[in-house]
Formats: sequence, C-alpha cells, structure tokens
Amino acid sequence: MSNTLKAYRAAILHSLADPAEVGVENSYQYFEDGVLLVDDGRVVEVGPAERLLPKLNGVEVREYRDALITPGFIDTHIHYPQTGMIASYGEQLLDWLDTYTFPTERQFADKAHAADVAGIFLKELLRNGTTTALVFGSVHKESVDAFFEAAEKLDLRMIAGKVLMDRNAPDYLTDTAESGYADSKELIERWHGKGRLHYAVTPRFAPTSTPEQLELAGKLFAEYPDLYMHTHLSENRKEIEWVKELFPERSGYLDVYDHYRLIGQRAVFAHGVHLCDDECRRLAETGSAVAFCPTSNLFLGSGLFDLEKLEQHGVRVGLGTDVGAGTSFSQLQSLNEAYKIMQLQGKKLDPFKSLYLATLGGARALYLDHRIGNFSTGKDADFVVLDYLATPLLAYRMQQARSLEERLFALTILGDDRVVKETFAAGRSVHLRG
Ligand SMILES: [Zn+2]
Repeated sequence: MSNTLKAYRAAILHSLADPAEVGVENSYQYFEDGVLLVDDGRVVEVGPAERLLPKLNGVEVREYRDALITPGFIDTHIHYPQTGMIASYGEQLLDWLDTYTFPTERQFADKAHAADVAGIFLKELLRNGTTTALVFGSVHKESVDAFFEAAEKLDLRMIAGKVLMDRNAPDYLTDTAESGYADSKELIERWHGKGRLHYAVTPRFAPTSTPEQLELAGKLFAEYPDLYMHTHLSENRKEIEWVKELFPERSGYLDVYDHYRLIGQRAVFAHGVHLCDDECRRLAETGSAVAFCPTSNLFLGSGLFDLEKLEQHGVRVGLGTDVGAGTSFSQLQSLNEAYKIMQLQGKKLDPFKSLYLATLGGARALYLDHRIGNFSTGKDADFVVLDYLATPLLAYRMQQARSLEERLFALTILGDDRVVKETFAAGRSVHLRG
C-alpha cells in the first residue's frame, strides 16, 4: 500500500448526477460514517468506514466528528480585482461599473497591488470552501500573471483571463483590438494548461468591445484547444437596450456573441437573467453554459433568474458569486439567496439540487467533470469539511434535524465561511479554520 495514502473519516456526501435528470434519490451518494481515500492529490476511493477501514493497515485516519465532507465548491463567475469593493452602495449595473468598478480596476496596472489582492482573494475563496473558480482579471495582463502565480503556488484548479475592453470605458482602462489579442495570446502561452490552470478569453461584455475586438476574441477562442470564453450576458434591462443600440444588425444580445463565434463548449455567460426561449435553445445546442449569480442579481436589482426555464432547455448552469457585485464569497450563501429567488417565482430549490449546482453542476458547466465535482476514483482530491456545530444556532438547529435533507438545507441557509472547518486542494490542506 502506498505510504502517501491518506484517509479522512466523517459523514460524506457527493453528487452523482443532476436531480433534474435522474430524480433526487438517484442524484447523490451518502455515507453516514464514511471514509475518503486520497493519494497523490487524487481520490482513490470513497465508501463506508466499516468496509474501508479494515483495509488500511497503518494508514493514518483523520477523523472529523459532527462534520460533513463534500467536494470543494465551484464558482463559475467572479472578479478578483473587485474584492476590495464588495458591498459598495446603491447603483444598478451600468452606473455601478462607472462609479466603483473602473476606478478600482485601474489599480491593477501595478503588479504588486495585483499580487496583494490575488493573495487576499484566494485566501477568501478557500476560507469559503471554493476550490475552483472562473475568474475575471482586469484589463492589465499583469493582473492575470499575479493571479496565476498565486494560484499555482497553492496548486489550485483555476480559470482566469485578462479583460478585453476597447470602448465605452475610461481611457486608462482600455486596450485595443490588437493589443488585447496579443496580450491574451501571451498569457495563454504562459499559463494555459500549466499545472491545473486554464485560460479564458474574457471580453467584459458586448458594449465594451468594438466589433473588431470581438472578431479577434472569437479567432483566439478557436485557436487553442480547451480554452474558455468568459463574459456577461443579459443581466440588466438597460444593458440589453444598450446592446441593441450598439449592434442594431444583430437579432439580440446572445446573437452578438454568436456572430463573433464566442459561443460553444467552455463558453460561460454570467447572469442570463432575461433570456428568451430562442436564446436558451441556442445556448443549449451549442453546449454553452450560464452562471447563475444569486447574490449579485439581488444586490444590483437585476432580476430573478429562471433556473427552471434554462433547465428545461437543457442549458448547463453553474453557480457564481460575482463578487464584487455579489455580496459573499460563500457558495452556501449563494444557495441561500438562490432558494429565495426560486420562492419569489413560486418554485422550489431542493437541497440536493443545491449541492449539485455548487459542485458537479459547476464542473459540468466548465467541462471539468472528468476532473472535479465529486469523489469518483481518479478525480482531483478537492474537498471541504463542513462543521455542523459551527455556530450556536446551527448546532441547535442540527439537534432538531431528523434527516440528511434537513441538515443539508439548514447548512445552505445558515452556513457561510464559519462552517468551513478545513479545505483541501489536490489532497493538501489549504485552509484550516482558526
Ligand atoms: Zn460579473
């Protein structure tokens, strides 16, 4: 037996499939007293303690009481330069960008500043149990170098890209179609596929790129295998009207991206709050994904995401925080707000669907479900230990809970970073709660 084998014992829960496709009962696997075996950064096996423990001659077993081990959370949309402007007051999308976002992102021309914020940002993700994220940098290539350097040190599976933005933004924050293409290409050559890092071609959104820039972004997206495309889509009604004015020849917002070949597998569109049926169909048939960002949609007053509609069309949906418009790094808090968004539309969000969205669903949206998202043998050992007794109220609530479903639901409603006792990435502990 390998002497690097490690064993973790606790209640263990992971998703196996989308509850919308297989039904809730068949969507997960749960071991009340389970063991997760990890070797060389990968999952070896997960199963009941009574079966696995006798096989572990001399292997040290880390045991967690009153805890639940789940796969690490996956955040399919977030902006690292906006870490310091989270919780900024009172604007909707377009004014919010002008008032807060652009001045904040200006500072990322300075590599040392970018490195500081990248460190704070990654620490915050890990404190919240998020082990993979699809991340916006700023327009400066230095911002992406700083981010990837920090992520590489921790051996995290992360996706990021430099913002492309050559109009409708302050001069100090714009590139050009050509420089954006060249800088992105340089970053791709340096980082894409290095360790567990991936690159995303990242036009901020259609209004801030000229047709020439979108054309080159589409070219770049097609040039390298397994590259991502990451942008925003149909978040806010004023934004949608603006896109219509800027691109009168296109039939709608999504059609702008479609025209420039910024669609397809590994294309991830944040928000999609106001999509028509045709757009949902097009997203589904091209294998594109949408990032549902509950706390951000509520905070900016953007609207209520129609999860059921996208699901019915077969669109891949991941969960995003969208910090800094999002108000928490915690995907448990995203799920809390997601539940309320569904309630406001007379719909439900089953706790096992919530688990799926935050883990395997996110992995599917990112086409990384062969690597992360659950505890299938051979996948990356990215996981979290959640503490049922993290706060007095949670502990008291857990005493009343009679089922796993109830406990899981309470975790998503009452939980946040305090619940995350320990976070592991590629089998290494990367956060231990103080
Ligand atoms: Zn965003």
